[in-house]
Amino acid sequence: MPRSRAAKPRGSGVSPIPAGYEEVMSEMLGSEAHESMPALFIGHGSPMNIVADNGYTRDLEALAARLPRPAAILVVSAHWLTKGTAVGADEHNLTIYDFFGFPAELNEKKYPAPGSPAVAARVRALTGERATPVERGLDHAAWAPLIRMYPAADVPVLELSLDVTAAAAQHYALGRRLSPLRDEGVLIVGSGNIVHNLGIIDWDEDAPVAAWASEFDAWVAGCVAERRHDDLVEYLEHPLGRTAAPTPDHYLPLLYALAVQKEREDVRTVHEGIQNGTISMRCLQIG
Ligand code: ZN
Repeated sequence: MPRSRAAKPRGSGVSPIPAGYEEVMSEMLGSEAHESMPALFIGHGSPMNIVADNGYTRDLEALAARLPRPAAILVVSAHWLTKGTAVGADEHNLTIYDFFGFPAELNEKKYPAPGSPAVAARVRALTGERATPVERGLDHAAWAPLIRMYPAADVPVLELSLDVTAAAAQHYALGRRLSPLRDEGVLIVGSGNIVHNLGIIDWDEDAPVAAWASEFDAWVAGCVAERRHDDLVEYLEHPLGRTAAPTPDHYLPLLYALAVQKEREDVRTVHEGIQNGTISMRCLQIG
């Protein structure tokens, strides 16, 4: 494709397609016409899920088996907090072991999925040049679920950070700007946890579930089903909001996944359950 055409606005009508982007994506997708990709919210929970065999890990594996194969995966990560927004621009991703006190076996795992500077450039354009390209590798919010879903690590993966200076509504608005990616073959994944309070957990995966954690998780599920996104943006108005999400990092990726929900699109529950007494492992498929 001539460079002049590649630089013309398309999709959202305001964000230019970076030169070379369409070529890279069609190479990844092959000759088959691609369908709109769903978006996901994944509760990633404890790093032990990297090696565990439980209902959650089996649901992730089944999910990947039924999804169309993505050209690339963009993970909005609970574990990448920045001032301003950053996007992973690695050609080759290193695996980041951003957890401590777990069995050595986890640190021996590698997830060498390639990155995609072309998709990073597209993300930068869609965010109005707000997302700064950074070479950083993949933290466990990305690779812990993906090693179960795409164990061959052969789909390019990049991450979007969470801007710690932005309010929840700004995160939702930024998420909406990423919507065109779904029609370009990119699987958008918000990776966090709806209920995540490390001050109130039990290290036993199957510990008895705290009633307040179930209550908040169920409230979120109800809002999702009724498409009450405004209520979800204002989650701290809920009496349990600050207990469920004492810091916003694990909650906000949910807003990115919901922000790209199209009109008349349903949300499926991929998995629900609470691990470690209070960590919601709810996973959602949008579209
Ligand atoms: Zn986490």
